[in-house]
Amino acid sequence: MANKESILIIEDEKNIGNYIETVIAAQGYKVLRAYNGVSGMTMINSYCPDLILLDLGLPDIDGMEILKQVREFSDVPMIVLSARTKEEEKVKALDEGADDYLTKPFGADELLARIRTALRHYARHTNMLPDPAYSRDGLVIDFEKRLVTLQGEPVHLTQIQYKLVSLLAKNAGKVLTYDSILKEIWGPYADMDNQILRVNMANIRRKLEVNPAEPHYIFTEIGVGYRMIESI
Ligand code: CA
Repeated sequence: MANKESILIIEDEKNIGNYIETVIAAQGYKVLRAYNGVSGMTMINSYCPDLILLDLGLPDIDGMEILKQVREFSDVPMIVLSARTKEEEKVKALDEGADDYLTKPFGADELLARIRTALRHYARHTNMLPDPAYSRDGLVIDFEKRLVTLQGEPVHLTQIQYKLVSLLAKNAGKVLTYDSILKEIWGPYADMDNQILRVNMANIRRKLEVNPAEPHYIFTEIGVGYRMIESI
């Protein structure tokens, strides 16, 4: 029970909120609850939670509006809770500054993994720590040496492929939208065409994955972007 971070749940559906509270309280996080947008905003201001779980469909204020308002004064990690099939909503929330999203219904492991990832990225970003090497199931990425090895064997990546893999690995566990990846790799004036990204990703998967059709390291979040499996 070493975790002492406080997490604010802004969710009007009591059963979902109760479920989340049970899961995260069992891990030692302090739990705060709000059932609508207005009290959510008040609690953010009064308690300065370490992380916010934000339902987008609230009875009074649109969750997207809360996201915008909070981002004007705070970098606190925010994970939005969104309904399945609402890809556009997820992309919009990420563009507005959400750190990640969870698609309802979600499991306890997924919820806790997203929370851990968001808190870790925030701590690293705030303390300006260098990214530690990425390592997961035989895939190792040494950012300092710009070296990628798979089961101990070096993987030869092009410049662009390396940039893509290291960007995803530095954000491992977190979804990155197609547009944010394109901007980061090809620059703000790049032609926003996902095709170039898909082609590069297919080539990367051929080099990293045992079965590129069923990736183990880099997942496609349909309609949103890519997510690399958490480093261990
Ligand atoms: Ca709701």
